Formats: sequence, structure tokens, C-alpha cells
Amino acid sequence: MIDFDIPEEDRALLDSIDRMMAREFPPEALRRADLAHETPWHLLPRMGELGLLALAIPEAYGGLGKDWRSAALVNERLAWHAGIAATLFGTTVGFGAMSLLNYGTEAQKREILPRLMEGRARFALALTESTAGTDAGAITTSARRLDGGGWRINGRKTWISNADAADYLVVPCRTEPGSKGSKGVTMLLVPRATPGISMTGLDKVGHHCMPSYDIGFDDVEVGDAAVMGEVGQGFRHTMSTLHYSRAGQAANAVGQAQRAVDVALAHAKERRQFGQAIGSFQAVQHKLADMQVRVNLARLSLYQLAWLIATGRPCRLEAAQTKLAATETFQYVTRNGLQIMASAGYAMESDMQRMWRDAGLYTFGEGSSELQRNLIAREMGL
Ligand SMILES: Cc1cc2nc3c(=O)[nH]c(=O)nc-3n(C[C@H](O)[C@H](O)[C@H](O)COP(=O)(O)OP(=O)(O)OC[C@H]3O[C@@H](n4cnc5c(N)ncnc54)[C@H](O)[C@@H]3O)c2cc1C
Repeated sequence: MIDFDIPEEDRALLDSIDRMMAREFPPEALRRADLAHETPWHLLPRMGELGLLALAIPEAYGGLGKDWRSAALVNERLAWHAGIAATLFGTTVGFGAMSLLNYGTEAQKREILPRLMEGRARFALALTESTAGTDAGAITTSARRLDGGGWRINGRKTWISNADAADYLVVPCRTEPGSKGSKGVTMLLVPRATPGISMTGLDKVGHHCMPSYDIGFDDVEVGDAAVMGEVGQGFRHTMSTLHYSRAGQAANAVGQAQRAVDVALAHAKERRQFGQAIGSFQAVQHKLADMQVRVNLARLSLYQLAWLIATGRPCRLEAAQTKLAATETFQYVTRNGLQIMASAGYAMESDMQRMWRDAGLYTFGEGSSELQRNLIAREMGL
């Protein structure tokens, strides 16, 4: 039989997240931060104190050695409170911990993982370039081997989240001159403070708590110790890192989508027109029913994916399916939530408009819906 019981230990963890978020970043603080374009970095050390960032780290490195199921539950609950909290968790675990654990050297793991678990190491993945979006294999940022050892990086990355405040940039670079596509790329772990890195902020519709940057790399030099994984295999390594972060993004989308349903439902029960609650109109009821069904189905897909990852089974199709289902659901429920709330949802103080704006990114960031459908079709033998 399939068991959907959440273990007692995980339930306690979720309760502790509720208390921490109510204390450290209540809904009014989230609204203020979104309007002020501020990132609640203070949440990362708080997550560290609760052990959230140590969940997926093996005990040999001082972690809790739990599996991906707990991480998915935590991500979903953080997202229900605030999408940015789940994003900070997800990028630390997905871009940071998983790339270190899978491809980091022993020295990188020993040096960085302890700080990461305390919430004192911030990460950004710098993959996208102006001519390499969905087609990530088109990257041209180069890292040339130096005679005395080490690498010199030149090029530009764009739309990189949280990059300026990051401690480390995970940067896939073309290290084999003349190579194309997935060949000849190496993943480098570049300290943000390295000379030659410049940042230009980018303006955007949503995700105001998560700043985006165009990054310039002008003769940025790093040592051989910066190499993650195998030289020349960085594209494959990056895709596998994205695999985890997409699972995290799906959990984030499910958590926020549930919040959007909850917000719309509360409004439908309270708002009265024609002498009755708008939730008594069947047109509104059906919208809410469809919204909850879509969220429940996306959540089931997420829990199945978390189980597949936790048990080391192949999950290419399920990862693509979950990313697709969760992110399109998030857009669907916020679009319908806005319709149900009308002017009340369109006001800048409303949580619905913020989630509606933020939802726009999820269906193309970290692999677009079209790319996920391509992957699913390929897994189906097409
Ligand atoms: C707010 C924000 C944060 C981001 N954060 C990061 C980050 O931290 N790190 C990072 O590296 N990048 C980041 N990105 C970049 C993001 O991952 C890219 O925007 C995404 O990969 C899509 O690339 P693109 O925007 O160039 O779209 P394009 O690649 O130009 O795609 C445009 C459209 O064409 C479709 N398309 C393209 N190829 C195909 C195909 N083969 N089949 C069918 N349809 C196709 C796409 O699905 C899409 O609908 C961020 C972007 C934003 C806006």
C-alpha cells in the first residue's frame, strides 16, 4: 500500500516552521518587503537553527541525513508562508548543497557545508546568457586554462537571482575552445568577491524580494580548487543540479498555490454581493473546486517525485511532469483567484496580486513548460 502519513518528526518540523515564520516574517512583513524590493536574508540563519538546511546533508558532513521527502515538505510549507522563504531554502539546498555534495571536492565540502547548514553561505546559479536561455548549451562564457594552473573567466551571464549578495556563484563555463552544445563545459565555484565580477540590477514584474542581475566576468581568475566535478562534464552536472532545484521549485509552486486557494476561499466566504456571500454562487464554487483539485493533483505528483528521488530511482519523466503540473497550477489558481477577488485582489496590498505576478516566472524559469513537455514526449519514446 502507498503510505501518505507524514512522520511525527516531520510534523514537528512543519510546526516549528509555522512558529518561525509567524515570528520572523509574518504576512505584513512579506507585503512590506515586496513593496520595498528587500530580500529577507535573515531567514536563512533561522532556517539553519531549525536544522532545515541540514536535512539533505549526510551525517558524515554534520547533516541530519534525512531524505528528499522531508526537504519537499519543508519547501512546500515555507512557500505557503512566503515564496521567497522557499526560494532561499531551495537555492541553498538545490544550487548549493546538491552541487557540492554531487560534484564538490572534499575540501569544498568540508569548508562550505558547515556554513551552509547554519544559513551563512549564499549561492546563485549563473547559467543563463543573453543568447542561451532555454538552449542552455549555447553558453559562450569562457574559462581559459592558465599556464601556472587555474582558470580565467570572461563573458556575461544574465537574469541571475540573488547574485550580488551571494557568497558563491556556480558558473558553468566553456573550457574547451571551439566546443559546442553540451560538450566542453566545466562547472566552476566562483567566490562572489573575486576581482573582475560586476553586477547590474534588472527590473521586473514580480519576485521583488529576489533581485536579478546581469553579471560581467572580466578576466576573473580562480584556482583549480574552483572546479566542481569533471572538467568538460559541467553541462551534465548543471542539468543534474537543475533536476533537484526543479523539484524544489515545484514544491515552492505547490505551497504558494495552496496559499492562493486559501486566500481566495476566505474572501469568497466573507465578501457579500446581492445579499449573500459570493462563495454561495455556483460559478465561484466551481472555480474554487477546480483550483483545489489542481493543487491536490500537483501535490500528489510532487510527493511521488520526492519518493523517487529519496529512493534513488530514475525520475526524468516525473520531474518534468511535476515541474509542469505545479507551475502551471500556480498560474491557474492565481489567475482564477484574481477573478474571484476582483478589485480586492488587484490592490497592491493584496497577497493575490503578488502571487499572480510571481507565478509568471515559474513556467519558464529553470526550464520552460515547453521544455518539460519536450522532455516528457522524449521519455514517451517520441
Ligand atoms: C526573474 C528571473 C529569475 C531568473 N533566475 C535565474 C538564475 O538564478 N539563474 C539562471 O541561470 N537563470 C535565471 N533566469 C533565466 C531563466 O532560467 C530563463 O529566462 C529561462 O531559461 C528561459 O530562457 P529565455 O528567457 O531566454 O527564453 P527563451 O529561451 O528565449 O524562450 C522563449 C520561448 O521559446 C520557447 N522555446 C525555446 N526553445 C524551445 C523548444 N526547443 N521547444 C519549444 N519551445 C521552445 C520557450 O519555452 C519560451 O516559451 C531567471 C529569469 C528570470 C526572469
